[in-house]
Amino acid sequence: MTFTESEERQALRKAAGDLARRYGHEYYSKLARSGGHTTELWNEAGRLGYLGVAVPEEYGGGGAGIGDLAAVCEEFCAAGTPMLLMVVSPAICATVIARFGKDEQKKHWLPRFASGEARMSFAITEPDAGSNSHKLTTTARKDGADWILNGRKVYISGVDEAEAVLVVGRTEDAKTGKLKPALFIVPTDTPGFEYKQIEMDLVSADKQFQLFLDDVRLPADALVGSEDAALAQLFAGLNPERIMAASFSVGLARYALEKGTAYAKERSVWGTPIGAHQGLAHPLATVKIEMELAKLMTQKAAALYDSGDDMGAGEAANMAKYAGAEVAIKAVDTAIQVHGGNGLATEYGLGTLLGAVRVGRIAPVSREMVLNFVAQHSLGLPKSY
Ligand SMILES: Cc1cc2nc3c(=O)[nH]c(=O)nc-3n(C[C@H](O)[C@H](O)[C@H](O)COP(=O)(O)OP(=O)(O)OC[C@H]3O[C@@H](n4cnc5c(N)ncnc54)[C@H](O)[C@@H]3O)c2cc1C
Repeated sequence: MTFTESEERQALRKAAGDLARRYGHEYYSKLARSGGHTTELWNEAGRLGYLGVAVPEEYGGGGAGIGDLAAVCEEFCAAGTPMLLMVVSPAICATVIARFGKDEQKKHWLPRFASGEARMSFAITEPDAGSNSHKLTTTARKDGADWILNGRKVYISGVDEAEAVLVVGRTEDAKTGKLKPALFIVPTDTPGFEYKQIEMDLVSADKQFQLFLDDVRLPADALVGSEDAALAQLFAGLNPERIMAASFSVGLARYALEKGTAYAKERSVWGTPIGAHQGLAHPLATVKIEMELAKLMTQKAAALYDSGDDMGAGEAANMAKYAGAEVAIKAVDTAIQVHGGNGLATEYGLGTLLGAVRVGRIAPVSREMVLNFVAQHSLGLPKSY
């Protein structure tokens, strides 16, 4: 066991961080506030191979693991340029297609995930099912060789930037009872597929959408893999999603902690830097400890996932996601407090993150559902719902 990342990963972190810092938080927040997108940064990261690090080499990717992609994600967030689509497109969608896709799907999508050229959203959440995915009602019916898809989705990130959406539904044969998911690649220009932006009190360059699927006709090969891969296929995407969400939060915590610490060293109101007061030093130190712990658990989850231990990775990824979200919220709150009035001034680049870090407690899986998972699966406690 080693607690030092490989030289390759350290170099990747440095290079990705350098690129993201060249753009910086001001670039990000200006775009986010004006309804823009981080297309330039995304494209450059793609060209340099950072978005495709986890895509298999035979399809033009880096052939590394989710731990490397998570490191890129953390560095982007630590530079103040958080890109939600990174959690979705190269992590969930590319992983599911690489592990379960048909040959043609792999050939079509993976090289373009590797270069960042293709972007794909991921849609599981439904207005009525919420956290209870067993209640998903998006349904695919066979019509000759085609599939006809009907359903509604909500809070789906980045659909306006995506070429297609990976939609989690169920086939008509598996319409009721425990979830037996079927995953479909739905191009965003397919007739019958509509999306509408949800106004959010969130400063984010990636927007959220409601999806309306009304008799969306898809060819047979829109189904990822086979109907039978079912849950294994979905979990292949959900573990990377949680690991990426954890690294997203850890990166944002780092960004806030760095700003809070720098300000605490330079601002002085009683003749000594305010960081000398334990009322500020201890909360900053607490964030440092909790951030390092969250990062360690994220690395553990990624290492388990990359070694093929999906079950072990599931528990660790949930814990990492929980810990990351909690420390990111605390980090931004603490950094704002350290800054006093300046904490909410646009110039200091902290208030912009209040919503972004709060998302981590809700999505991709809520804090309560993580606690339910740990209570039931790690502790063996009875299920309450
Ligand atoms: C910014 C953002 C981006 C998102 N992006 C995507 C995306 O790209 N794709 C996608 O599919 N989804 C996305 N989501 C949706 C997200 O995954 C869901 O919001 C989340 O899973 C919670 O579901 P819900 O909103 O329906 O809440 P509900 O399920 O309605 O839950 C409401 C509250 O009840 C609690 N609760 C529910 N059941 C239990 C229980 N059994 N025990 C204890 N508490 C419980 C929850 O924890 C929560 O606090 C996004 C959400 C946001 C905010």
